[in-house]
Amino acid sequence: MRRESDHPGAGAATGAGEAQGAGGEGEGDVLTQMIQALLRDADMPPREVEGVSEEFCDALDRVPRNSLKPSQICPICNNPFVEDPYPLVVQLPCHPTHMFDLECLRPWLRLRGTCPLDRVDFAKREREKAEERRKPVVPDDDEEEEWDGMYG
Ligand SMILES: [Zn+2]
Ligand SMILES: [Zn+2]
Repeated sequence: MRRESDHPGAGAATGAGEAQGAGGEGEGDVLTQMIQALLRDADMPPREVEGVSEEFCDALDRVPRNSLKPSQICPICNNPFVEDPYPLVVQLPCHPTHMFDLECLRPWLRLRGTCPLDRVDFAKREREKAEERRKPVVPDDDEEEEWDGMYG
């Protein structure tokens, strides 16, 4: 037998909506998550998600002309670097031999954010770094507990 709910005037026929009384706390979490997701999207509009920033391109390691060999070519345009009297060659952090003309590499990186040779995703790394910077620094107590556990 069901409990008889004493709602004067309420339509007793449906009986729906009775079981929802408990556990209002979960709703707050979902709402918080939604707001956080919205804030994330606002910070990072989708059009910027693919490539890296101008700053990333500017900060790449330059390779001086005297350390370039005649056999080294730009993988994008296939021209030997030293053919240019003033080559602007940059080296990607993924591998010491991944060198490119900056003018060839920049548009690719801005668009795709990856190394053209091994597809290392610099845009993703950059986004992760930016996200870490945005987070407030919280002292991580868990780490200490882990170490204690190892000794105990
Ligand atoms: Zn090139
Ligand atoms: Zn690479």
